[in-house]
Amino acid sequence: MATATKPVARPKIQQTECFIGGRWTPAQSGKTFETHNPATEELIARVAEGDAADIDAAVKAARKQFDGGEWSRMDARDRGKLIYKLADLIESELDELAALESLDNGKPIRDSRAADLPLTIDALRYYAGYADKIHGQTIPVRGPYFTYTRKEPVGVVGQIIPWNFPMLMVAWKWGPALATGCTIVMKPAEQTPLTCLRMARLAQKAGIPDGVINVVPGYGPSAGAALVKHPGVDKVAFTGSTEVGKIIMRDAAASMKRVTLELGGKSPNIVFEDCDLNAAVAGAHFGLYFNQGQCCCAGSRLFVQEKIHDKFVEQIMAINKSRKLGDPLDPETEQGPQVNKEQFDKILGYIESGKQQGAQCLTGGGRHGDKGFYVQPTLFTGVKDEMKIAQEEIFGPVMSILKFKDLDEIAARANNTDYGLAAAIWTRDIGKAHSLAAKLRAGTVWINCYDVFDAAAPFGGFKQSGLGRELGEAALSNYTEHKTVTVAL
Ligand code: NAP
Ligand code: MG
Repeated sequence: MATATKPVARPKIQQTECFIGGRWTPAQSGKTFETHNPATEELIARVAEGDAADIDAAVKAARKQFDGGEWSRMDARDRGKLIYKLADLIESELDELAALESLDNGKPIRDSRAADLPLTIDALRYYAGYADKIHGQTIPVRGPYFTYTRKEPVGVVGQIIPWNFPMLMVAWKWGPALATGCTIVMKPAEQTPLTCLRMARLAQKAGIPDGVINVVPGYGPSAGAALVKHPGVDKVAFTGSTEVGKIIMRDAAASMKRVTLELGGKSPNIVFEDCDLNAAVAGAHFGLYFNQGQCCCAGSRLFVQEKIHDKFVEQIMAINKSRKLGDPLDPETEQGPQVNKEQFDKILGYIESGKQQGAQCLTGGGRHGDKGFYVQPTLFTGVKDEMKIAQEEIFGPVMSILKFKDLDEIAARANNTDYGLAAAIWTRDIGKAHSLAAKLRAGTVWINCYDVFDAAAPFGGFKQSGLGRELGEAALSNYTEHKTVTVAL
């Protein structure tokens, strides 16, 4: 269709205030912060800058709703219906929400439409279906007693999310919290507050009672930290950097809040010479450059077996050279800008360090254009395990290729990092694939694919990549307390 390639219309900005107890309110301080379009560096909107006072009001609203029981004790099937309704409303505004996400974050509209939105809707529907299937057990115990367990909602949950998949992170967090009957105070990332606020509006429209979902936009060290420390919060769920994850764990300890953390990664992607080369090249390219490289599970340590190394590199170079960078709202665009100047500068710094430490930069290596935070798709070869670009999370479109000789060395090299979020293996030898999958210290291992996400499949990290699992049935236990009830017979 001719119209499919036209840039989409700029979406309307509707919600910019805090959403507390079902009402839109400015920050109590009256302060606002700016959110920008990373493609043009222009101001999109001023958003309420919530801080400890607004967090306190939001926690009180969530507490009142939780303790009152309208949501937590609602018939579970009815609770499920309201979550389905929210998913339906998001679906009915898919194009508008996708455009809003691309405007605020910079991700290409083709990705928002094909990935972020469908995965968001899917996650909400998956958990809507769980609402009436959360139940305990009857347990045979010694003596004249009857013992059973109940799974009860953990209570008021504080949820802090990053900017790389703003809407999807909302769905991953709200889905299991809503299904189990918890109430929520969410702080979206300062860089991308707009779609989270729009989703709160849709939740209200769906009929989710006031006070169940509260959103306070603001900064991490003020609003975020106040949420983690608030005595009225029972559990904290966080996605972001390992550095901030550690602060959150410390802050939550004072009141023994339950904590789940989804943190950074430096995921090994291992390509054997007996792989389907075209599939491995396409998968490795996607696994690193997707979302401008801003993925916690990016395949950022790409190990390629010696024999196919040069051919592999040639093919990656060809894709990079033809990659379309441009306006995120143009459906032709394959790569947008990085989310902000801070990330842009950080990535350019890593590129410099790669060059200085002696890696060969074969494509890219700098800024693209002179407006917006665009980084050229960059490819380094000759990368050594100890180089900074092979050790630290770059969170940008920078691929580092490391050579390897044989299977014996690869598990140890792949595991030689503090992170353990994801890994991938490319080979036609099924036995080799499964034996290596068992040895890799990572929460997710993809075989002959990359970045395959499903609401039903648990996701989370080993080691310093996090604590607990999101998605799947596993995530429900993050939001429930198990109660044992024993009756004398
Ligand atoms: P970040 O600082 O970890 O931010 C994630 C969220 O935590 C944001 O909502 C942030 O608020 C909030 N936050 C920051 N400090 C906090 C504190 N002391 N207490 C409570 N909440 C706090 O991540 P970033 O600065 O955006 O990015 C830095 C690096 O983290 C990236 O370069 C990348 O390596 C990594 N990262 C990982 C993921 C992931 O998916 N695992 C996502 C994003 C970034 P603000 O709104 O003020 O930022
Ligand atoms: Mg930060």
